[in-house]
Amino acid sequence: MRDTVIVGGGPAGMTAAVYAARKRVDLLLISHDLGGQASWSWNVENYMGFSYIKGVDLMHRFEEHMREFGFPVEYTMVTQVEKRNGGFLVHKEKGAPERALSIIVASGKSPRRLEVPGEERLIGRGVSYCATCDAPIFRGMDVAVVGGGNSALSAAIQLTNYAKSISVVSIADWTGDPVLRDTLMSAENVTAYKYCDVVEITGELLVSGIRVRSRRDGRETIVPVKGVFVEIGQRPNSSIVRGLADLNEAGEIIADCSCKTNVPGLFAAGDVTTVPEKQIIVAAGEGAKAALSAYDYIIRYRGSAQQAA
Ligand SMILES: Cc1cc2nc3c(=O)[nH]c(=O)nc-3n(C[C@H](O)[C@H](O)[C@H](O)COP(=O)(O)OP(=O)(O)OC[C@H]3O[C@@H](n4cnc5c(N)ncnc54)[C@H](O)[C@@H]3O)c2cc1C
Repeated sequence: MRDTVIVGGGPAGMTAAVYAARKRVDLLLISHDLGGQASWSWNVENYMGFSYIKGVDLMHRFEEHMREFGFPVEYTMVTQVEKRNGGFLVHKEKGAPERALSIIVASGKSPRRLEVPGEERLIGRGVSYCATCDAPIFRGMDVAVVGGGNSALSAAIQLTNYAKSISVVSIADWTGDPVLRDTLMSAENVTAYKYCDVVEITGELLVSGIRVRSRRDGRETIVPVKGVFVEIGQRPNSSIVRGLADLNEAGEIIADCSCKTNVPGLFAAGDVTTVPEKQIIVAAGEGAKAALSAYDYIIRYRGSAQQAA
């Protein structure tokens, strides 16, 4: 049985891994990828030590730092974490389950889906959830952004540098920061569809348009576009501990200021938790705290096991 399994290779998971490795904890990091959402940030201006750095470059630095410690990293999805015989069983998409005395869940958040016809089928064929990653692909094309908050407005602003036209569809008025609203309103190639729903994404092999329905009079319009950027928020990746750990109404893992959950030995850090601010520096700090709490748990557990023997 390992001392700890860390689930997630974003800023929280990679920092937790470095802190655990420095304590000589026998650990395994399991993640779908390294970098997480932080890799999607075009320009990070609020990570101390860097006045400006691309998210992807910052995450490469995290990875380089982490690799110095030589612990194993496995690229797969964790499907469930189960409590078993004083420890945990970690089920994965690939390979046999892992046994661990403690777990650090640092699985972050994922983009929320629109859940309309055509969306699932056309992912990667014009439907995108990351303007930073995919905006350059749509150079000279007509695109749509769905959403009216900060991420949607930032995505639309990025797209003004590439796309021929941008239709911004939001269910209400734009709620993003005034500076973003002003920048977008002054762009020439932007059309706002406010108080509207996207009810379908059309296209056979590739996206050809969106069907937009007005919330005011129910009228429907087909807007021809080649790209659809869905920017309607994020949902926590907490399903792997649903039924085991306490979650709040938003599905975030309830963790205290030491990253402890209601389950002894199960720790959680970063965006997947109830920590109020979702930022790289906060996630990294929480990852550090989770690893130190897990270390404390491991040595106490081993100490009491020795005494009992
Ligand atoms: C477009 C964008 C721009 C941003 N810009 C900034 C910025 O400029 N400054 C700033 O401070 N913050 C920014 N943020 C927020 C910041 O990226 C997050 O707060 C931070 O990445 C959270 O880190 P995390 O490690 O908790 O989670 P994540 O970064 O979400 O990482 C979670 C990791 O877990 C993996 N994972 C998920 N589920 C599983 C599973 N079941 N099994 C295995 N692996 C799994 C994921 O693949 C991922 O690697 C931005 C976010 C976005 C989306």
